[in-house]
Amino acid sequence: MATQVLPGVWSAGTRYVNWYAVDCGADGVTVVDAGLPGYRRDLDRELASMGFARADVRAVVLTHGHIDHVGMAAAWAASGVNVFLHPADAALAAAPKTNKTDRPALAYLRWPATWAFVGHCLREGVLRPEPMPPTTALADGEILPVPGAPTVTHVPGHTDGSCVLEFPAHGAAFVGDLLCTLDPKTGRPADPQLQTRGSNRDSDTAMASLERLAGMTARTVLPGHGRVWRDGVEAAVATARRIGCR
Ligand SMILES: [Zn+2]
Ligand SMILES: [Zn+2]
Repeated sequence: MATQVLPGVWSAGTRYVNWYAVDCGADGVTVVDAGLPGYRRDLDRELASMGFARADVRAVVLTHGHIDHVGMAAAWAASGVNVFLHPADAALAAAPKTNKTDRPALAYLRWPATWAFVGHCLREGVLRPEPMPPTTALADGEILPVPGAPTVTHVPGHTDGSCVLEFPAHGAAFVGDLLCTLDPKTGRPADPQLQTRGSNRDSDTAMASLERLAGMTARTVLPGHGRVWRDGVEAAVATARRIGCR
């Protein structure tokens, strides 16, 4: 069931993959990311545990086009909700099997966390996605006209169209898979770091994109994988640079 991680901000999904909902009062709710396809089964129950229904949701904003973040996009679109995605990830979202990474993901299969994650994705329908619905394009620097008025920052590297969404009134930065807070080997909680080269399209570009987070004042960093980080964007970026990319 969903947990409230900040006033008005809910984390849902599983221990493997997060999606979020941001309550903006009378303006309605903005959802960030759409989990794996199988999460559709629990969607209405998760929303009810936050006190919402699908009709309260005005927009679904996808941080990037990977299947573990767009799996319920078709369900949302079928409910009449506008889905947003950076255009550089549109082809990837429509054809998950075209995903390319720095290094073969297979090289990481000896790590327990990789095994567990792949098994989870298989159970949750990663090979049986629904067709990706049409999306509205996110643009770097825009203030999105959806509840919470998040600022969009394009941070290519993990994928070509990865974006960070900062909700100023909530003090929340949704970083997608630019940063995660899981140890890639063990799957245990860890300081913010880049995803592995087996998951990133181009890790050097992802590392360079951290620069684009300079000046973000959000105290809470909400990643696609792992728990929230409450020590600010700047410290999250510093730990990611220190840890480097595996
Ligand atoms: Zn991803
Ligand atoms: Zn992911």
